[in-house]
Amino acid sequence: MPIENTLSIIKPDATKRNITGLINAKIEKAGLKIVAQKRIMLSKELAEKFYSVHKDRPFFNDLVNFMISGPVIVQVLRGENAVSLNRSIMGATNPTDAEEGTIRSEFAQSVEANSVHGSDSLENALKEISFFFAEIDILI
Ligand code: ADP
Ligand code: MG
Repeated sequence: MPIENTLSIIKPDATKRNITGLINAKIEKAGLKIVAQKRIMLSKELAEKFYSVHKDRPFFNDLVNFMISGPVIVQVLRGENAVSLNRSIMGATNPTDAEEGTIRSEFAQSVEANSVHGSDSLENALKEISFFFAEIDILI
């Protein structure tokens, strides 16, 4: 199986509740390695740019305001099939649809405040990682 890198974000609802370690434990238990990580405050401009694919969706403004409502942890996860493995341990976007044992099933508060972001394809993972990290920041 291919070794991949994927971008993960622990969202403000989770940093506020001090559960970033619980989320990281689930990531590591699944066999993914956190090879880069930083706690940052997104600007409105950066959040809008990061989520620009959703700019025409009705929830876009709320999503941007939520993402800048507190610190986030951006991280690069590495492992076999990291992109799809991370999506499967995250669970569905809406926590009411998320499978038991997934991060969103256990920790998400709503479809918006759903605790984590994860890249949805290898192509987007490459783009999203380079949005936040330089190659020198990623320590395998
Ligand atoms: P995912 O994060 O599972 O890839 P999307 O890319 O579709 O989901 O959406 C990006 C983020 O926008 C979601 O994680 C969630 O925070 C928010 N979001 C998605 N759909 C809705 C919705 N119907 N109402 C409010 N917020 C939403
Ligand atoms: Mg998405």
